[in-house]
Amino acid sequence: MARTLYCWRCKMDIPMLDEREWEEVRPLLRIRPDDVGARRQSALDRYHAITGFRETEPNAIFHHRIRLYGPPCEACEKPLRTPNATWCAVCGAHTDKATVLRRHRQFMFGIDKGRSGQVDAEWLGPPLETECPAEHGHVNRPNVAHSSARWLIVLPGAIAAGIASLIPLHLVLYQTLTGSGLIEPYPELPERILGPLVATATFVWAGAKIAPSHKGKTALTLSGLVVLLGCTALGLGLAQTPIFGQLIQLKYRGLILIGAVAGAVLGFALALHDESSSKSIPDRP
Ligand SMILES: [Zn+2]
Ligand SMILES: [Zn+2]
Repeated sequence: MARTLYCWRCKMDIPMLDEREWEEVRPLLRIRPDDVGARRQSALDRYHAITGFRETEPNAIFHHRIRLYGPPCEACEKPLRTPNATWCAVCGAHTDKATVLRRHRQFMFGIDKGRSGQVDAEWLGPPLETECPAEHGHVNRPNVAHSSARWLIVLPGAIAAGIASLIPLHLVLYQTLTGSGLIEPYPELPERILGPLVATATFVWAGAKIAPSHKGKTALTLSGLVVLLGCTALGLGLAQTPIFGQLIQLKYRGLILIGAVAGAVLGFALALHDESSSKSIPDRP
């Protein structure tokens, strides 16, 4: 039977339908050119009869369906946004995948004890696509395979982005310093010092962007990697070991290290900023 749950799109508690009720309402929401108004009104009426709540926007019913949501967050009790979510968008709590799956099964079991066997079988079936109309722009379909594949490209993607960032840097510096006739010939030092900063900032930021979840932790790990490599390079410098056949002067090496570490910190800050702004929720249509 319908249950009142917090809807993150509407930002309010609202009655949500179980699967049997959804099957009653769904045909009424189907849009046909000849009878749009009447059918959609009958969907609203049916929803009202089931839940006692007078909804005025037929599109909202598409996502007021228990099945689309995850179990209640262990910390704040608001439903997780999807059955596969391990992160609570309301309070930020993280849960591991196995716990979420177990809690979701228990949750669906409790929705309608009389239909528990059926619900369990439904849950074991393939993930459902939501019925949300395209104009909502919601993508709720759980996609585990996609997210694991994305983890594989975090490091290569971050490295590629870091290297690629050197091209615009070179162009900007060249244009500013030599292209404008300010300094001839092109001084290499600014690029040598700014390069590591821009490259490591991009490396950390892009890695966090690619990561499907745990973006903060990813950024922290990548920053740590930069610092570790930087310290290794400094150590080799102190030991007068050539890198790529070159013995870079220690004073430059120190500057490069400082630039790289500053870039890593900058990238980490950018990633955290991105993550916190992505938590803002779109308004109800
Ligand atoms: Zn809603
Ligand atoms: Zn929570």
